[in-house]
Amino acid sequence: MDQIKIGKFIASCRKEQGMTQAVLAEKLGISNRAVSKWENGKSMPDSGIMLELCNYLKISVNELLSGERIMTEVSDKRAEENLLAMRREVEEKNRQMLRMEYGIAFPAVIAGLVMGFVASFIEMPVWLRIVLIVFGLVLIFTATFIAVGIEQKAGYYECQNCHHRYVPTYWQTNLAMHMGRTRYMKCPECGKRSWQKKVLS
Ligand SMILES: [Zn+2]
Repeated sequence: MDQIKIGKFIASCRKEQGMTQAVLAEKLGISNRAVSKWENGKSMPDSGIMLELCNYLKISVNELLSGERIMTEVSDKRAEENLLAMRREVEEKNRQMLRMEYGIAFPAVIAGLVMGFVASFIEMPVWLRIVLIVFGLVLIFTATFIAVGIEQKAGYYECQNCHHRYVPTYWQTNLAMHMGRTRYMKCPECGKRSWQKKVLS
């Protein structure tokens, strides 16, 4: 600890509060000399009086011991803002991924169904029918697997029972019954099975 620096800091805070050494000494129930000794860096306020002194000087004990003002509130607030901005970014990315999921899944499923429909109802050689149906099925399955992979990675699922949020494994996601993005899965936290909603944050 830099006693000289602390002393100067005490003096400047006291003046900011519009107090003379005598006024501060009287408030604290000590002698002028004691205050003067702190301010000249010859001694330190003892711990029993420190909190009261800081109250009168409108500073924290941490600031008194550092001999300067610390902008903790400002830096805390900035850290909080950074965290929020980061979270928003992740949410936005997840939102885009989920949009992409539907962008891949719907056209592929529709194309696959059209192929199946064409193969079933339009006159054509048998081999062509088989090729069309197989191709349509492969398309639907591939798109579904990719889409579920995206859905599993973007955001979290929330347990209806304990509200625990988690990312399930790919196969757990893929094999689960689902209605849209709500899937019937076992919660890793409470172990109960329930319909678990997709959440972004
Ligand atoms: Zn749970």
